[in-house]
Amino acid sequence: MKTQVVLILLLVIFLPSLLYCQPDTALVRLRDIDPSIRIDVRYATTNNFTGKILYPGAELYLRKEVAERLSEVQAFIMMLGFRLKVYDGYRPLSIQKILWDATKEKKYVVNPANGSKHNRGAAVDVTLVDAKGKELDMGSEFDSFSEMSNSDAKGLSENVKKNRDILTSAMQMFGFVPNSREWWHFDYEGWKKYSVLDWKWW
Ligand SMILES: [Zn+2]
Repeated sequence: MKTQVVLILLLVIFLPSLLYCQPDTALVRLRDIDPSIRIDVRYATTNNFTGKILYPGAELYLRKEVAERLSEVQAFIMMLGFRLKVYDGYRPLSIQKILWDATKEKKYVVNPANGSKHNRGAAVDVTLVDAKGKELDMGSEFDSFSEMSNSDAKGLSENVKKNRDILTSAMQMFGFVPNSREWWHFDYEGWKKYSVLDWKWW
């Protein structure tokens, strides 16, 4: 009886720290780490290139360390008068298969046989908004699989080049690697330590 009381007491004392001590590899909701980052989960709406709702719930998950680094980008970018707006983060592998099947432009979607860095919770699709929440002109829309999304696209205005440069420079400062084909996509530099998952939040 006495042992049981001691065990219960220990559990009561240590349960909060057990619950809140998450490893860096844990998947976390971005809004729990930084509610000031705007999210617009396109795959939870029909406003994406497939025209279909792929995520039944508009949540955005990332690995804990990735979310924390993104929060550092947000703090920095806010000093410049902007905010981050995130379109996608962790993406279950089974959804990667749907995207792969839905696109003819295979060079823009990672083959699910290999697993995308999104499937590891270590990639983000992100843009910048101004103080009023209006998206900055990046020269092409998120997921528009065209030459204009490339980093070296010809015909980009000076304003677009400047906006992309602010986003890319800020992300790089905090460990995110840009993608030359998609201005919105960034891989976290430590992606290799995270495995491909098919966990779903719905
Ligand atoms: Zn992406």
